Amino acid sequence: MERTFIAIKPDGVQRGLAGEIISRFENKGFTLVGLKLMQVSKELAETHYAVHKERPFFAGLVEFITSGPVVAMVLEGDGVIAAARKLIGATNPLTAEPGTIRGDFGANIGRNIIHGSDAPETAQQEIALWFTEAELASWTPTLMPWIH
Ligand code: ADP
Ligand code: MG
Repeated sequence: MERTFIAIKPDGVQRGLAGEIISRFENKGFTLVGLKLMQVSKELAETHYAVHKERPFFAGLVEFITSGPVVAMVLEGDGVIAAARKLIGATNPLTAEPGTIRGDFGANIGRNIIHGSDAPETAQQEIALWFTEAELASWTPTLMPWIH
């Protein structure tokens, strides 16, 4: 079963959107297999965003991600990587479609509320970077057997 990594960034947590955002993924039918609120270290932020390290916004992005608690999660489900990116919406909240998380709640590309893995390889890397094996639960929601 496919898994993806999602993080509610400090702006999403500070605005009290964590519950609403988690609900959107639950309502869609994806299964939470990992969930924690954490303060992100500079090292973790730099590793997570290493692909952007030459970009002009990199230092500000690392400063932002480490500025307050983040809600990190792993979601499981068929096609969850692409589907979560669709629920999240475009990187710039000003152009993200209404109905998406960024489209509904964000107004600034530097404060776009949420991160989601963009491909199977990055999902695998990011899950391993943010979670230990022991922090992940393998379970099947028996109340919703039609989803699996
Ligand atoms: P996404 O998060 O949609 O995968 P990217 O991988 O392109 O987007 O960028 C990673 C993160 O870097 C974005 O979510 C955003 O927080 C930040 N970012 C991207 N572009 C800019 C920019 N031009 N100015 C400020 N921050 C940016
Ligand atoms: Mg990205």
